[in-house]
Parts: sequence; C-alpha cells; structure tokens
Amino acid sequence: MLTRNDLARDAVALDVTGIEGHAHRVRVTRGAGGSLRVDCTCAFFQRERWCRHVVDVLCMRLRALGVPDEEAAFAVEEAVMGTAAEDQAHALDRALIAYERALAAFEEGRSTSLSADVVETMGTLARDVADAAAAFGDAAIRFKRTIGEAA
Ligand SMILES: [Zn+2]
Repeated sequence: MLTRNDLARDAVALDVTGIEGHAHRVRVTRGAGGSLRVDCTCAFFQRERWCRHVVDVLCMRLRALGVPDEEAAFAVEEAVMGTAAEDQAHALDRALIAYERALAAFEEGRSTSLSADVVETMGTLARDVADAAAAFGDAAIRFKRTIGEAA
C-alpha cells in the first residue's frame, strides 16, 4: 500500500499543447503493482475518459506535445515503460489510425453510382469502416479501464 507521500512523489504532471493549439495538463500517477492512473484537463477527456494527449504522452511523443523538459520526459518514461497502460496506448493508437484510414478510404471511394461493381465496392468500404470502428471502440474501452485503475 502506498502512502500519500509515495503517490505524490510518483505523480508526474506535464503541460502539453494539443494539435488544436490549446494547453492542457496531463497527469501520470504510478500506482501499486505497476498500474498507472492517467488523466488530462481537456474537455474531450472529461467527456470520454481518454484523449489524444494522454495517448501521445504514453506513446512518448512529448516533443510533438511541446514538452521540451528533458527531466519531465525522463520521469514519464520511467513511470510508463513496461506498463499495461503503455501497451494499451499503442493498441489504441493503432486502432485509431486504422479507423481514420477506413473513413478516408470510404470518403475517397464515395460514389452515388448504382452500378453493381460500385455498389459492391461501397459495401466493402462500409464494412471496413464498421470493423475498424468496432476494433477502435474495444481498444478505447480497454485503454480507459487500464488508465482508470485505482492508483
Ligand atoms: Zn486531453
């Protein structure tokens, strides 16, 4: 069981800037048994219980988030490396990329033609979006469960 002091020492707070240009604070707290509790002050996180900032921090994309502080980067790396949260962040990142690619392919292939081959292609693209959306949803649930564990 960790004391309040241990928890305070193991918490790392990072001020990040998202691609939308807004500043947010991501907090990484190490818990018992190698668990990590991670949260962010952005509105998306408050609503969805995960966000791009948290995924990027766990995937160690700190420079892209405007974190030049080497000491903070080292502290985060130490806290994150080898945890289930790190694995789930990478899994969610891959699922997000696959979902975005499937959506883009659907948009590019979008046609109102009623010819059989075009309709068949649209069906395939729509199924790809549905599969990627389901995989992304599952990955998000697993990720939220992992970073929301009691510290
Ligand atoms: Zn956020």
